[in-house]
Amino acid sequence: MSEIEYDVIVLGGGAIGENVADRAVQGGMRTVIVESELVGGECSYWACMPSKALLRSGALVRAARDVDGAKQAVTGELDVTAVLRRRDTVTSHWKDDGQVEWLNGANIDLVRGHARIVGPKRVEVTASDGIVTTITAKHAVAVCTGSAAALPDIPGLREAEPWTSRDATSAKEPPASLAVIGGGVVAAEMATAYAGFGTRVTVIARSGLLGRNEPFAGELVQAALEELGADVRTGVSPTSVFRDPDDGVVRIELDDGAVVVAHQVLVATGRVPRTGDVGLDSIGLTPGDWLHVDDSMRVLYDDGSVFGVGAPEAGAPVTGEDAWLYAVGDVTHRALLTHQGKYDARIAGDAIAARAKGRTLQLTPWSTYAATADHAAVPQVTFTDPEVASVGLSAAQAQKASIRTRVVDYDLASVAGATIASDRYVGRARMVVDEDRKVLVGATFVGQEVGELLHSATIAIVGEVTIDRLWHAVPSYPTLSEVWLRLLEEYGRPTE
Ligand SMILES: Cc1cc2nc3c(=O)[nH]c(=O)nc-3n(C[C@H](O)[C@H](O)[C@H](O)COP(=O)(O)OP(=O)(O)OC[C@H]3O[C@@H](n4cnc5c(N)ncnc54)[C@H](O)[C@@H]3O)c2cc1C
Repeated sequence: MSEIEYDVIVLGGGAIGENVADRAVQGGMRTVIVESELVGGECSYWACMPSKALLRSGALVRAARDVDGAKQAVTGELDVTAVLRRRDTVTSHWKDDGQVEWLNGANIDLVRGHARIVGPKRVEVTASDGIVTTITAKHAVAVCTGSAAALPDIPGLREAEPWTSRDATSAKEPPASLAVIGGGVVAAEMATAYAGFGTRVTVIARSGLLGRNEPFAGELVQAALEELGADVRTGVSPTSVFRDPDDGVVRIELDDGAVVVAHQVLVATGRVPRTGDVGLDSIGLTPGDWLHVDDSMRVLYDDGSVFGVGAPEAGAPVTGEDAWLYAVGDVTHRALLTHQGKYDARIAGDAIAARAKGRTLQLTPWSTYAATADHAAVPQVTFTDPEVASVGLSAAQAQKASIRTRVVDYDLASVAGATIASDRYVGRARMVVDEDRKVLVGATFVGQEVGELLHSATIAIVGEVTIDRLWHAVPSYPTLSEVWLRLLEEYGRPTE
């Protein structure tokens, strides 16, 4: 058993762990990442990248078919084998050499193996050959171990060996038919991808599609899925699942008495934290729980106080050095998105380095070491067809937060940019305005390619640009961005 020391130990080399380490190194910290699978994590190999690669070709073919002149050139069917081949390239064939090279260039050390915290600032790593290395951290340990697919407690589901997002994004060929349990982002995206491949898709979504978004988002995506041939069943839940050992076909009984029969079943009903086996019990935390953090990503106790040696039981003041445990990325349940996790990671890495130098950090909103955007402006694009792009609060969330709002809607198909983009553009836009502060607190766009429109709304919300000032941000003609002008006209002229 060998023993080594670093300034900072990062558990998990996904996109988020990599970014924590990078910022810590830039702050002068000797940093090591411990990774048990592939450097790059879920996003690179089983989530963002392969899922978008599976969706892109079908979306392009459909878009071309909706533009006269282009549609005459699209005479064949989607080449699914080529789509899967491109997906394999995008995932680097599930090899992490490129990411390891990046770590080397960034002066981040890598230890491969399963990491467990065994005491304050102490981590044990078990390599695949069983060799154990103990690493101690001079300053901080950051848990960036991500999340895994949740399997709901449906009788027979586990025995039926369902697909999770990992199987759906890495499949070698599409099944003839696929039942998708769930109505969130992963369910909607994978239903779109596989329906585009010609798979007979049935979606079983108890609370409808994309329930966290404005209601029109789920409605438009459902209509598009149905047009692709998918059977979308909302308001129903599976009561049992059975895979026939003879023909491998899965039967899913629903609570309305119907039975869905499919060659494969994908479970996309949420995520659980990968904290079950990282040694949280050795430091008095509960394995399997999400790790709650403050705005600089220091782990908090349930009562909201900062985790640290001797606190809070001893009532000891927590110094920068005591608060050595950080958590970043999916494992915190803040926003289960790569870009937001990377934002948190930059802040965490900087905060770790600053505290190691003895600085006391003020976590005032929008300051350097506070991830304020997590509470105010989390952007998300769902790459269905049409896309759904949202940031900040939905109308319902704003109302729940007791914000006095005005909601403005516009038919995105009516702007000139949409007329040019497609002969049958379908879309809608909504802005949610805080009437007291006269600033945007939320925006949602649904339509083809609206993902590229989203950052304008994110900037308006983060910058707290007033509605009156937005009048002077002139969108180019004829682009989809003209929807800003139309939304503002609907809202009414600026005050004089
Ligand atoms: C199908 C799908 C599509 C998605 N699409 C998008 C998208 O388009 N855009 C977007 O922003 N987000 C998307 N997400 C979410 C995104 O994938 C996650 O938010 C992101 O991967 C989280 O990164 P992370 O580093 O926190 O965790 P992970 O990427 O899961 O990385 C954690 C790493 O820790 C390692 N690890 C775990 N336990 C240990 C241990 N004990 N010891 C050592 N190593 C360990 C794991 O092997 C893994 O490499 C998608 C998610 C899914 C499931």
